[in-house]
Amino acid sequence: MKQAFYRISLLLFLLMGMLSAVVQAAPAPSIQLWMNGERMKPKIPPQIQVNGQAVTELFGQNGSWDKGKTTYSISSKAVNKVDEKPKVVIEKVKITGLVQKEEMIEIEANGEVQAKHFTMNNPFRIVVDVQNAELALQSPLQLDKEGQVIIKTIRYSQFSPNIVRIVIELQGSATYDFKVEGEKVVVKLKDVHELELPSSQLPANQEGESLEAEIPTIQPDTIIPLIPLATKELVKIVVDAGHGGTDPGAIGNRLREKDLTLGISQKLAENLRADPKFDVVMTREGDTFPELPERVKIANGEKADLFISVHINSATSSSAKGTETYYYTAKSKTYANTVHKYLIQATGFSDRKVKKARFQVIRDTKMPAVLVEIGFITNPSEAKQMADEEFQKRVADALYKGIREFVDQN
Ligand SMILES: [Zn+2]
Repeated sequence: MKQAFYRISLLLFLLMGMLSAVVQAAPAPSIQLWMNGERMKPKIPPQIQVNGQAVTELFGQNGSWDKGKTTYSISSKAVNKVDEKPKVVIEKVKITGLVQKEEMIEIEANGEVQAKHFTMNNPFRIVVDVQNAELALQSPLQLDKEGQVIIKTIRYSQFSPNIVRIVIELQGSATYDFKVEGEKVVVKLKDVHELELPSSQLPANQEGESLEAEIPTIQPDTIIPLIPLATKELVKIVVDAGHGGTDPGAIGNRLREKDLTLGISQKLAENLRADPKFDVVMTREGDTFPELPERVKIANGEKADLFISVHINSATSSSAKGTETYYYTAKSKTYANTVHKYLIQATGFSDRKVKKARFQVIRDTKMPAVLVEIGFITNPSEAKQMADEEFQKRVADALYKGIREFVDQN
């Protein structure tokens, strides 16, 4: 008992020593603000309040915490001039405008600009550093929410005497095009994925595939690859023919799901293999049954860029009909929409739309992944068509077109 007391005392003593060292090492609050080439001195602090992360990001190491507070207080308007000029005398380009229209941000200057850009995570931010520049905005940027929901804030500052920093913070993630066009910098967001909270009440496919939906949930992966698929020399895609071997899948109208999914998947793989852009991996080439975790393992192990799983639906009622496409992670939504657009045209069946569900193969795979339900095997008319080779070819062509379009645009 006594020993434990000494141990705790020693621990507390050490902890307090460490804490006081940290407090003493903390620099006195000083934020350098440069405006029109002159150093400005912050006067009355709490004009604007922003969090510490934003300040450090905009003012580099010059920001510091208010004693015991969780926010920084800096003044943007109430500033005093001090007699200190920047030492480097190079003609600087003036940043005269910041314009945001929907998912595009333009930085305007009065001369040729040079800029660097990079991203930061949690939350996802795009940072643009305009070199040898100074802020000379005519009016402050007002964030326009019209036509976009992804941009949360746009912050900007004279980061250092020679660098103007613009930080675009997103609620979610995106890739982007970055262009310097003479006196303008253009940042155009693409492949936008709003941050979606995982729902615990996701609908499972009620008419089939319930086994695949019964596995407990994990958080979807919201980090997306930054190398655009369009610029990749080779896009690796995993084609997953549903069921197989000892697992026939749904049965109806004397047909087995596993045969139809294999037929369509083989034709799709053939299309993809004819396109030099793709490297194709199939989870099964014949009538075998890889377990679901094995299919996921193949896709993740191969570090595939895309995943597609082909299934056929079923229901107790023979009148149930239509085509649907499933996705689970936020980054798979555009992929699902693009594939579905072509698929629905090809089947001509009624549109059961693009839906979100946590089927294991699209939930645990780390790349954009979709699961298509071509039609209902229990519906006599749809079953008959799906058994037809020509129909299968048409569906495979459509899936290929959807995949190719997604690759070209992302
Ligand atoms: Zn199935």
